[in-house]
Amino acid sequence: MQKKTIRDIDVTGKKVFVRVDFNVPFNEAGQITDDTRIRAALPTVEDLIGRGARVILASHLGRPKGRVVDDMRLKPVADRLAELLGSTVIYADDCIGPRAEEAASALNDGDVLLLENLRFHADEEKNDPSFSAQLAALADIYVNDAFGTAHRAHASTEGITHHLPSVAGLLMEKELQALGELLTSPSRPFACVFGGAKVSDKVGMIRNMLQRVDIVLVGGGLAATFLKARGLDVGESLVETEMLEEARAIMAESERSGVPVVLPIDVLVAQQVKPGVRARVVQSTNVPAGSGIVDIGPKSIEHYFSKLESCKTVMWNGPMGVYEIPQFSMGTRCLINYIAATDARSVIGGGSSVDAVQEMGLADLVTHVSTGGGATLELLERGTLPGVEALEDL
Ligand code: ADP
Ligand code: MG
Repeated sequence: MQKKTIRDIDVTGKKVFVRVDFNVPFNEAGQITDDTRIRAALPTVEDLIGRGARVILASHLGRPKGRVVDDMRLKPVADRLAELLGSTVIYADDCIGPRAEEAASALNDGDVLLLENLRFHADEEKNDPSFSAQLAALADIYVNDAFGTAHRAHASTEGITHHLPSVAGLLMEKELQALGELLTSPSRPFACVFGGAKVSDKVGMIRNMLQRVDIVLVGGGLAATFLKARGLDVGESLVETEMLEEARAIMAESERSGVPVVLPIDVLVAQQVKPGVRARVVQSTNVPAGSGIVDIGPKSIEHYFSKLESCKTVMWNGPMGVYEIPQFSMGTRCLINYIAATDARSVIGGGSSVDAVQEMGLADLVTHVSTGGGATLELLERGTLPGVEALEDL
């Protein structure tokens, strides 16, 4: 995964097409509610401006499904980016065609242009060759800094690389370094903590990481399927019946390799998954009929901490419980506090997990908070991504 980056190439005076991930959330009033993704691209954009490149930025926003949707225009993003950069950002209301071409060819060294939402054209997600060629025609060099979209082989992440010299941006580089280290050379012992809703989303990653870690700790909705696969009764808990076999195979692999897959000793159960209901802690062997698991219990939290104590690397994906409901958030919050406080290298990935650590204001205390959701999981599953493969090797 040693890929060329913008550091390895000369960009002065060149038109550089940068695929960024500006898929930011908006409120009803059309205001950006979280500009983390825009900020994450600043190092690359500022570096290119500083070296006198002519910067052409492109992103998707939302799911317009191949149509122009006014609420999904990138104009507000251009305005926010201009604020953050403290300089003008030119905006073109299409990403191909005459308006995009004119705007791109009028650029001077150090200028920044933001193209309109790539997904206004259905050909983007289809990875249509002629659409890719039209995007490529705007520029001399291609840079992929959209780590969060690199698991998709789209025109702006894959097709375009067939036409231009293609390198990684600085955010992409940072993600590949941090996650690549987990795959190839983690400081040991190395623990993975996996939770979240579904085994089916995570099974590929769990299987791959099981071969690379020293211990796996399981929480969240996943735990119920694993407990059930061990033959325990889990009442009304979320269980993926079609994943029981997979869960058994993972536990058998753990037996063979000697890498423990640790399940909660105790759990918090409730009769309904909603705020204000009565919840209580029971042994994992004692989940009452009519109740479901909503969080890991206090003994499990302590047990997991004792397992993590000696670890030099901790990777976490997936909440330990239904953390959106404060009553059921203890396991997740305690784990985040632990990760923030540990001296070990720490990596957090996954949409909900990242939201949770940001909500607690502790993201700065984590070694690496990944900007990819699906991309992060897929990289940890397969060791590479289509949008990464497509870039030039170092
Ligand atoms: P991430 O986005 O970090 O990869 P997931 O998307 O896999 O995480 O899972 C997040 C969701 O899992 C949250 O909405 C949370 O409420 C849910 N969840 C966690 N534990 C449980 C549980 N025991 N039962 C049902 N849902 C759970
Ligand atoms: Mg998620």
